[in-house]
Amino acid sequence: TSYGFREVGQGEKQALVNDVFHKVAKRYDIMNDLMSAGLHRAWKSAMVAALNPRKSPDYRILDVAGGTGDVAFRIIEASNRQAQATVLDINGSMLAVGEDRATKNGLRPNLTFVEANAEELPFPDKTFDAYTIAFGIRNVPRIDRALSEAYRVLKRGGRLLVLEFSDVDMPVLDKIYEEWSFKAIPRIGKAVTGDAEPYQYLVESIRKFPNQRDFADMIRDAGFGRVTWTNFTGGIAALHSGWKI
Ligand code: SAM
Repeated sequence: TSYGFREVGQGEKQALVNDVFHKVAKRYDIMNDLMSAGLHRAWKSAMVAALNPRKSPDYRILDVAGGTGDVAFRIIEASNRQAQATVLDINGSMLAVGEDRATKNGLRPNLTFVEANAEELPFPDKTFDAYTIAFGIRNVPRIDRALSEAYRVLKRGGRLLVLEFSDVDMPVLDKIYEEWSFKAIPRIGKAVTGDAEPYQYLVESIRKFPNQRDFADMIRDAGFGRVTWTNFTGGIAALHSGWKI
């Protein structure tokens, strides 16, 4: 493909990603704050506001690459603790941290945790009202498969929301961001986990991820309609939206 994920094999890529998140699971939430300078919180809030979940127990959300549950927790809160969310992740260590947190914050009854691959979702067609994925899709080796699976498990009228690092379109900010990601992120990673290399890999994966326009095309190719995106913080992150019409 032209999306540049062919240099390492798909299996090898997934193994690298799994290794990173097994190592970091227990410290993931603090790492996220450090590496995004807290910005991920504002971006996730904007994602949940865009979703505007229905305040009803029959509203079902699938949060893929849901990790430690951060996005799902926010969605459940935004539904007045009414909606039901499934947190799916390929990494059991991340999910274990999420389950613990859910028990502590009282959201456990609204949540189901599933260990599985975004490329092969273990759900029947037309199961969910919404599919969310935050900072996860660039880690999936075959993005096109993940998107077709998203389309398959959504009901008609269902919503896709993808939050991901994207292309910075502001002069100066792009330079600051380059410095930050290539120098600070691996250093923070090393300080917190003792290992810089996995973070270098993550920074590379951000660089290789398609830009806003190309990613919107991929979403359309998977069958979604009314595809749009919104840039956050000059395009450091972007929120893509699509509908199963
Ligand atoms: N969504 C959470 C958040 O925003 O805080 C976690 C994002 S974390 C950067 C990326 C997550 O993607 C990790 O938990 C990782 O295990 C998961 N992941 C990577 N490859 C995956 C795959 N093929 N299928 C499902 N999850 C995957």
